[in-house]
Amino acid sequence: MFDRFYPDRYVASTYVIDFEKLYSEGVRGLIFDIDNTLVPHGAPADERAEELFARLKRIGFNCCLISNNQEPRVRMFNKNIQVDYVYNAHKPSTKNYVKAMEIMGTGTADTVFIGDQLFTDVWGAKRAGIPSILVKPIHPKEEIQIVLKRYLEKIVLHFYKKSLNR
Ligand SMILES: [Mg+2]
Repeated sequence: MFDRFYPDRYVASTYVIDFEKLYSEGVRGLIFDIDNTLVPHGAPADERAEELFARLKRIGFNCCLISNNQEPRVRMFNKNIQVDYVYNAHKPSTKNYVKAMEIMGTGTADTVFIGDQLFTDVWGAKRAGIPSILVKPIHPKEEIQIVLKRYLEKIVLHFYKKSLNR
């Protein structure tokens, strides 16, 4: 009933993902949400994020940030990261997932999406045909409209976890 929202994988953090393994499996493009996926909401890139993207570039990935936030926020995060980005992306609309793949020169077979929200990030990726990894949000303190969504996410994740145990 809720499977349209199910991610392909659910992990504790972006920073525990085995990106080397993804590359060896043929993945060449990575699309990232920013807020609560890479850093706390609204924060600039920290050392951990900068090291991650340096590593991803070394491995050989193309990376693209896609954020529903406006350009100044995305540009500020990207200052020391220097990857491609799409701002004001209107996730879960599929349009900018497709645009991100166009920018990277990848397709649905060799791209993976990483984000922290089921009803925007994961749902949009699924509808665009891109495999998705859901991560636990970095910072638990969030705006009220996100807090409400988290309750609904909890319900879906309950069924998702049950489906994994079947
Ligand atoms: Mg987010």
